[in-house]
Amino acid sequence: MNLLRPGQAGYADEITGFQTAVATAPAAVVAAESAEDVVAAVRYAAGHGLSVAVQATGHGLTAGTDGVLISTRRMTGVEIDPGTRTARVEAGARWEAVIEAAGEHGLAPLSGSSPDVGVVGYTLSGGFGLMARRYGRAADHVRALDVVTADGELRRVEPGSDLFWALRGGRDGFGVVTAIEFALLPVRELYGGSLTFDSADVPAVLRVWRTWSAAAPDTLTTSVAMIQYPDLPMVPAPVRGRHVAQVRIAYLGENGDDVVAPLRAAAPALADTLRTIPFTESGSIAAEPRQPHGYHGTNATVSQLNDAMLDAVLEHAGPGAAAPPVLIIDRLGGALARNPETPGVGWDSSAEYVVRALSVVDGDGVADVRRAHAKLFDALAPWTTGRLLPFVYGEHAPEEVAESVFPAADLRRLRELKRRYDAGNVFRAG
Ligand SMILES: Cc1cc2nc3c(=O)[nH]c(=O)nc-3n(C[C@H](O)[C@H](O)[C@H](O)COP(=O)(O)OP(=O)(O)OC[C@H]3O[C@@H](n4cnc5c(N)ncnc54)[C@H](O)[C@@H]3O)c2cc1C
Repeated sequence: MNLLRPGQAGYADEITGFQTAVATAPAAVVAAESAEDVVAAVRYAAGHGLSVAVQATGHGLTAGTDGVLISTRRMTGVEIDPGTRTARVEAGARWEAVIEAAGEHGLAPLSGSSPDVGVVGYTLSGGFGLMARRYGRAADHVRALDVVTADGELRRVEPGSDLFWALRGGRDGFGVVTAIEFALLPVRELYGGSLTFDSADVPAVLRVWRTWSAAAPDTLTTSVAMIQYPDLPMVPAPVRGRHVAQVRIAYLGENGDDVVAPLRAAAPALADTLRTIPFTESGSIAAEPRQPHGYHGTNATVSQLNDAMLDAVLEHAGPGAAAPPVLIIDRLGGALARNPETPGVGWDSSAEYVVRALSVVDGDGVADVRRAHAKLFDALAPWTTGRLLPFVYGEHAPEEVAESVFPAADLRRLRELKRRYDAGNVFRAG
């Protein structure tokens, strides 16, 4: 077990992740290479009265820790069984590695917009991906988990077990997952990419997208993002210094060009990357940044997207807003509205859209960002039904997150299981 303390060589590197706005100073970091290292780390922490937190990529880091941080970034094993269409993936693997390995067999995982994100953190958060309206959440396609619980035992959990339910969507507080097994889908390629529209067209495009996406088939998963690009030389010329609306599409059906024709007719596009692509290029649809930075963000699931809501979105995050966040509206519904075969922790399947806001922060300015986000989400409150766990980035207290993310009955069951499996609250981060 490679244990690092503050000041030792490698300590600072090991705790640095994608999210740079959260300060953390663990008493010790365990650079785990195996499930046995994780077992040893949990036992060490328990023996010293320390809490345990876990980090793979740092994309979802929301709070620092002063206990033991288990870093899983070296546990990157990925095995594909094409016969059973199953992937077995270690705790530190990123989606990129699974997409590549599965693609060799004409298969694809239920990954999300960024191939850089960690498989385990994403899936335990629910996992809302590029094919979500066709296949549902990633958490609902998990077949087994290996997890080290607070008593330092490595357990294999499968359908029928309480922990199998709690971890899939409940994410935090039950243990450290060392490996995960999940179903792959027979998807080789899709019709996908984005259409980018200029500031003046943003209000019209939002309305066209609303009407178009409301009637979309389940084979189509789509979002619209509003982004203020900085006026910097590294930003591509068509969007440099502009506030744009970008419609993102992942479509698994036929005749993609016909399906998107109403969007192409909405306004002249600054950029149009829509085409048939291999699933291995699915990260190009949203083309999210891969360099670490600081950010804060939150979201709301909503029951509808009416004119008053679109006006509020434009006022607080549109081209005229003082400091517009990146604002993304995702169409939900489809398979997300149906009951999965082996449900994990529930979410509000009646929600029609999720509205997410994300602002870059550098340590200062967090209070201003929270106030700005609060104004937007206050305006959406009459139609808000809850929140999605993966898109909460440090903006709310853990209790508030739990109460807004989980249905009340599921939250009661999660609390009961927490008392049973971790009465001493060893896993308290999150
Ligand atoms: C650029 C970007 C794009 C994203 N795109 C999507 C998307 O399309 N769909 C979506 O659903 N989400 C998306 N997310 C959210 C992402 O799924 C969550 O932030 C997720 O928690 C990240 O997991 P991670 O392992 O990469 O990050 P980490 O910060 O390393 O982990 C986040 C949390 O996951 C838990 N965790 C991680 N590993 C383990 C483990 N081995 N055992 C137990 N718990 C663990 C811990 O609570 C940890 O604090 C995105 C995030 C970013 C920053």
